Amino acid sequence: MSTQSTQPKPVQKESSGGAFYAGRGVTKTPMISHAKGIFFWDTDGKRYLDGSSGAVAANIGHGNERVRDAMIEQAKRFSYVVRTAFTSEATETLSRMIAELAGPGFDQTFLVSGGSEAIESTLKLARQYAVVTGQPKRSKVLARMPGYHGSTLGAAAVTGDPDRDQMFGPIMRVMPKIPAPLSYRIPDGYDVHSYADHCADELERQILAEGEDTVLAFIMEPVGGVATGALVAPNSYYSKVRKICDRYGVLLIFDEVMCGAGRTGTFLAAHHWPDALPDLVACAKGLSAGYTPLGAMIAPNRIVDKVVESGGFLHGHTYSGNPLSSAIGVAVLSELVNQNLMENAQRMGVILRQKLNALKDRSTTIGDVRGIGLLNAVEIVEDKATKAIFPAARQASYRVSEIARDLGLHIYSRRAASGKFGEWFMAAPPLIITEPEIGLFMELLTETFRIFESEI
Ligand code: PMP
Repeated sequence: MSTQSTQPKPVQKESSGGAFYAGRGVTKTPMISHAKGIFFWDTDGKRYLDGSSGAVAANIGHGNERVRDAMIEQAKRFSYVVRTAFTSEATETLSRMIAELAGPGFDQTFLVSGGSEAIESTLKLARQYAVVTGQPKRSKVLARMPGYHGSTLGAAAVTGDPDRDQMFGPIMRVMPKIPAPLSYRIPDGYDVHSYADHCADELERQILAEGEDTVLAFIMEPVGGVATGALVAPNSYYSKVRKICDRYGVLLIFDEVMCGAGRTGTFLAAHHWPDALPDLVACAKGLSAGYTPLGAMIAPNRIVDKVVESGGFLHGHTYSGNPLSSAIGVAVLSELVNQNLMENAQRMGVILRQKLNALKDRSTTIGDVRGIGLLNAVEIVEDKATKAIFPAARQASYRVSEIARDLGLHIYSRRAASGKFGEWFMAAPPLIITEPEIGLFMELLTETFRIFESEI
């Protein structure tokens, strides 16, 4: 007999609902009713253009009917089996598709439910590989400041954000950081190239300072996400980092949670630097394009086999390789390939950056536009000549997002770690965007900045 009460729980009068999330509540949070293509609508009938694909996730756009049908088909058959005892056609197909799209050097995937889990998977596989290959002293994972790798504690330990270190440091092992090769706020005495060179040298210096036989891996976002605002380093940085990792037996991990799955115009952002391919990749967001929680670690046989032969990977989640999520992933990646969305991302990225640069030239508060494909950021400054950052209290990037939202445009903004690295919003619409839709995006952005600049 059920012991559950049939009485509904009393609802707290003041509560607007059960969910609580950081950053909401500046103004009333719109409730979304439906979505199609690059647009979504709230329950009042207001339309929003999705200028950042949510949190840079909705790569194939909203309301895709082929994805919906694949979801229904899998759900009709079965949605879940325990991954350690059974597998599904969808799970195997998705793994194969990801490995094939990732190309040579990437043979196997470990499917999880999102970006942070994918990052945790890379850290643990790297550690287990070091131990089973006789290098148990290797335990330190170097990372960049600023940087973002996720919200779970392992991912937070490699995230470059002093505020999070201060809050959560006592319950995790904060890992050593080296400077990210920032391209806009470059320290005096350097240019973009010499500073990137210096930042790569810092990796070698830090490895030696830590003790080369204690360093397990170096993790970085090959194209930055919200922590650096779509930071792209000069080509030489990637090959130099790869060579330094090889020199000291340090595994190179690319966090492609945001930049992977076609977002930059190639399946992996790493494909832009083929002489600097990483050992392990974490991917998420665009893999399922927001249709389901999904992430993946992508790894080579030479690492996976050693760990499996030693008794297996000491890691996994109930929903790793979930058949329903996998079927959705297969449908999403099929759209990515069949609709030539990576080519479209390259072409539309060029057009979008041209238009954003033209807006920058007319604006008094847009300091920089950067990115690859459809992963771009627009940096907001108080003074373009000095690159001065707005005081924190002004909440400039959030205000820009708020104005945009009122006008019917969603843009995802961020003030980077401790505020000292700058603030921006992501100009990262779904990869299906057309040139006329970019025109509409720009009209809304132009009006957003007209209002923002008239307020200051
Ligand atoms: N790494 C990067 C580069 C990200 O952008 C994110 C998500 N914003 C994560 C890791 C964490 O992913 P998730 O939020 O899915 O856990």
